[in-house]
Amino acid sequence: MAEQKLHFVLVPFVAQGHIIPTLDLARLLADRGVLVTLATTPVNLSRNQAFVSRVKKSGLPSVSLLYRGIGETLYRDGADAEALLLHLRRTSPPPCCIIADFCNPWLRHVARELGVPRFDFYSIPCFYLLCEHNLMHHKVYEGVGGDDVPVVVPDLPVRIEVTMAQAPGIFPPPGWKWMRDEVSEAGSSSHGTLVNTFASLEPGYISFYEKVKGKKVWAVGPASLCNKLATDAANRGDKPVINEEKCLTWLDSMELGSVLYISFGTLVRYPLAQLVELGLGLEASGRPIIWVIKARELQSAVEEWLAEGFEERTRDRILIIRGWAPQVTILSHPSIGGFLTHCGWNSSLEGITAGVPMLTWPGFADQFLNERFLVDVLRVGVPCGMKRPFWDETVIRGDVKVKREDIKKVVERLMDDGIEAHELRNRATELKKMARSAIDVGGSSEESLTQLINEVSLLAKKQTISATEIQQEKD
Ligand code: UDP
Repeated sequence: MAEQKLHFVLVPFVAQGHIIPTLDLARLLADRGVLVTLATTPVNLSRNQAFVSRVKKSGLPSVSLLYRGIGETLYRDGADAEALLLHLRRTSPPPCCIIADFCNPWLRHVARELGVPRFDFYSIPCFYLLCEHNLMHHKVYEGVGGDDVPVVVPDLPVRIEVTMAQAPGIFPPPGWKWMRDEVSEAGSSSHGTLVNTFASLEPGYISFYEKVKGKKVWAVGPASLCNKLATDAANRGDKPVINEEKCLTWLDSMELGSVLYISFGTLVRYPLAQLVELGLGLEASGRPIIWVIKARELQSAVEEWLAEGFEERTRDRILIIRGWAPQVTILSHPSIGGFLTHCGWNSSLEGITAGVPMLTWPGFADQFLNERFLVDVLRVGVPCGMKRPFWDETVIRGDVKVKREDIKKVVERLMDDGIEAHELRNRATELKKMARSAIDVGGSSEESLTQLINEVSLLAKKQTISATEIQQEKD
């Protein structure tokens, strides 16, 4: 009898920063001959049109998309779990496992009902996961006088300081405690953890994390490197508002390594006063820049300010992208010499993969600790000086947190010809090589994916054998 194909079900959380790496993971698995069902909501699928059309045109024959009958929330128990279960019970071949974004803890019930193993998927480094574990395990913040007081993360090989305000994954904002508890419960009952990272980036942190959790970690990244064709890399996520050709022509016209690329990801946003201060700092730096201002930041006041002279004065060297940018394409262009990032892990890892040093300006969630990782551990980052999350009331009120003089200074530190900039660049180039060889044939992430597929195959066989035994006993 011919062996049945392995069938993995992938369920991303409903935010682009979670969906994009899950789509990349789906492609990595599909390239290995695994059947993949990707379950998400209609709105979220519609934001990833290039991927959807590729699946529909059979560019990815082993991926199927499931969205009918699934609601728009998809992050709490209830109707979504029922709809998904109903569908998965009818699919053939039946699913062998569920890969659940860690923000979808409700999937543990679906996996249990189906009798298949569940793996948590994190696009967050093990460095962060270990810091979070150690801070909680040692109850470090108990008795600390205020959420701006820095404490040292225990049991790490380097000295890392973080404040309570900077660690909302550990201390979620009011109303989200249920999520932390659910995630932690789901984490303890999962079969193992997939992480969008690679072994040589953080070998110690991966193995420490495995040890403290007592679970295997499969480091399978950088997932973005699955986009081997230029057109796939340029059309990742939302539809870019700038034509790829136009963007590349602009970059081609700049000197090698001279351009700073700026993006704050998909969720973080800043008020007009801070955007103006950033703009004036960038103008004073005199460097060529691509500045992504996302649609939700572009209120009329911002447009007015840009039109009042800024855009005119800087037209020859600052390209403003209003909306979604083809980030991976831009970062891999040889004219890019630096990346001012909000330290979302996907962006950070894309910066590492492209071999560009970074200016770090974290906003919330894992981003402050990711900043520490880039700056203190990997030594490819220079901090801009942001200390409070973007939802802090002083930030919302419009107080300027990073001043134009400081922005100008850090841009110079990163982009000039000094020893520090050279060291950052050398280190970034080294990490780029390591990232690429991890995903190549025989590389650590490629091997890790093979091990995962073998493990699921073994578990599926065991399950089939015991189901047959039960049936024979009944007969
Ligand atoms: N991204 C993009 N173009 C944009 C903004 C974001 O391609 O204009 C992609 C980016 O490459 C990354 C993801 O969206 O893959 C953002 O994820 P990240 O974890 O960096 O940030 P978050 O979504 O948490 O803000």
